[in-house]
Amino acid sequence: MTDTCSFHAGSTPLLISVPHDGRLLLESVERRMTAAGSDIPDTDWHVAKLYEFVRELDASMLVADYSRYVVDLNRPPDDAALYAGQISTGICPNMSFAGEYLYEDMGVVAAQDVRERVDAYWLPYHSLIESKLAALRDEYGYAILWDAHSIPSLVPRLFDGELPVLNIGTNDGDSCSANIAEQVFEIATASDYSAVMNGRFKGGYITRHYGDPRNNVHAIQLEIAQRAYMDEASREYDDVKADKLRDTLSSMLEGFLVATKRQYE
Ligand SMILES: [Zn+2]
Repeated sequence: MTDTCSFHAGSTPLLISVPHDGRLLLESVERRMTAAGSDIPDTDWHVAKLYEFVRELDASMLVADYSRYVVDLNRPPDDAALYAGQISTGICPNMSFAGEYLYEDMGVVAAQDVRERVDAYWLPYHSLIESKLAALRDEYGYAILWDAHSIPSLVPRLFDGELPVLNIGTNDGDSCSANIAEQVFEIATASDYSAVMNGRFKGGYITRHYGDPRNNVHAIQLEIAQRAYMDEASREYDDVKADKLRDTLSSMLEGFLVATKRQYE
């Protein structure tokens, strides 16, 4: 546990990362926000709760406490340098997925503020991922990372039509051995849910940066359409739907562990 994220240590090679279910805003950030912004609509609602079962699988889990509107942990840290002085839609967004301004006067986050948020909130999360993956690789000879996300089923600004329920991303095969990813995907396609691999969502910065199969780190992102476990309109968690989805998630994660173990035997 740090003051920016929560960490649970397991005893398997699997690390689950939950970067977007954080709800906290900084007072200095919230003060400038529009009503749309402080409503934090782009939260990966309840993903940490959905994945609580991974303790039974003995996986480690890292959960961010702060909103992606403070700093987006799934974007590269040099975003500020790349877009200095311009509208940033990346690491410190100024607009919601729906296209609403997050800040009064249609403002953006100043480059200096971006740097401070990266230092204070982005770096601790990534230091933990990096050190945990290194420790797992030392202990087991390999490490596996599952970056856990969710998103509304319909976001016209980001994609056409209704999103499949299970969206597996391996950066088109670069972040995870094809053999391992295929086994996880097979479990998804055999479930009651619609599933796609490397479709609209191929994995963000976390999956792309840490997934390095040649150096024995395999990373998969799973983007879940929120209709599978919650009421998207009210944002309420649906226990019945979530329990059912958890069976599939549990099978996919066990498949990830088993397939990787087999590859290294
Ligand atoms: Zn997310």
